[in-house]
Amino acid sequence: MEDVSKTMQQLMSQRHLNTNYRQLMEKVYSDAAVKQFVADHQAELAEDALERSAAKLYEFVTERDKVAQGGETFAAGYEPQLIVSNHLVDVAYVPTQATQDKQAQQQLRQRVKSIAMPKDIRDAQLDSFDHDEQRMEALMAAYDFIDTYEASPHRRHQALYLAGSFGVGKTYLLAAIANQLASDGFSSTLIHFPSLAVEMKNAIAQNGVGDKLDAIKRAPVLMIDDIGADAMSAWVRDDILGVILEYRMQEELPTFFSSNFSMEQLENEHLRISSRGDDEPLKAQRLMQRIRFLAREITMVGVNRRPQ
Ligand code: ADP
Ligand code: MG
Repeated sequence: MEDVSKTMQQLMSQRHLNTNYRQLMEKVYSDAAVKQFVADHQAELAEDALERSAAKLYEFVTERDKVAQGGETFAAGYEPQLIVSNHLVDVAYVPTQATQDKQAQQQLRQRVKSIAMPKDIRDAQLDSFDHDEQRMEALMAAYDFIDTYEASPHRRHQALYLAGSFGVGKTYLLAAIANQLASDGFSSTLIHFPSLAVEMKNAIAQNGVGDKLDAIKRAPVLMIDDIGADAMSAWVRDDILGVILEYRMQEELPTFFSSNFSMEQLENEHLRISSRGDDEPLKAQRLMQRIRFLAREITMVGVNRRPQ
């Protein structure tokens, strides 16, 4: 291909072009991005590529300017890019930076699956978790887990059982861990346990327990929030919680817990007594063995951070 500007001049001076079209194309052929593209791809372009690709070049310049001005474009969220196709110039539409950021953000969100969790867990970040002395141990343990898990996600890693009173930030910390894992490319599932129990009961009617339970028990990282908050039926304890814990222990899958109860209290004041009032110490013991295998207890103390 000859010298670009010469070709362009020649094109412009051709008699059959009317003034209007000429003015339009003058702008297109003198456009810096167009010139740069043509210069960069001279070798691949046909001799008469500029002439035959006039419409495409024009499309490129006008659509690009529309994107820049925030106007409505041919394909929202996409911007034009010049490409070579069959020795001619063509226009491809690629996601704008804003679209790419949005897609990355969505992907990130999809890595944190949650069941019946409050919406604001999306914003929980380890960086903004208070570093007061009492919460330090929990925060350090969280960082520790993330480091070792990410270094070898298929090995067994003991997760955390966060015990502490209402409002100290247990749920916040679990969510912050899940969000950190997500930004590093790892998926987790957070479930508000009391709501899950209700959901499972409703799912019985639709025969949907199996699928739901399956997805939960197989989650790469599972966080069981607020275990012990509501009275549990023997069915939820044995056929839901028991099944989840059994599987996760067998497969050595990281499983977090949060509870207003200590482990000791959970065993003796919660798991032992079914909602019908039966005392079943052996069942409680078995479940606690699994929980202890999966997670180590960390007591979080501090002021209630909930807005009063
Ligand atoms: P818990 O689960 O222990 O009952 P939450 O995690 O729900 O407590 O925390 C209570 C409130 O305080 C929530 O609104 C949460 O967003 C906020 N919160 C908790 N810990 C922190 C923290 N370290 N930094 C900022 N906000 C926090
Ligand atoms: Mg909570």
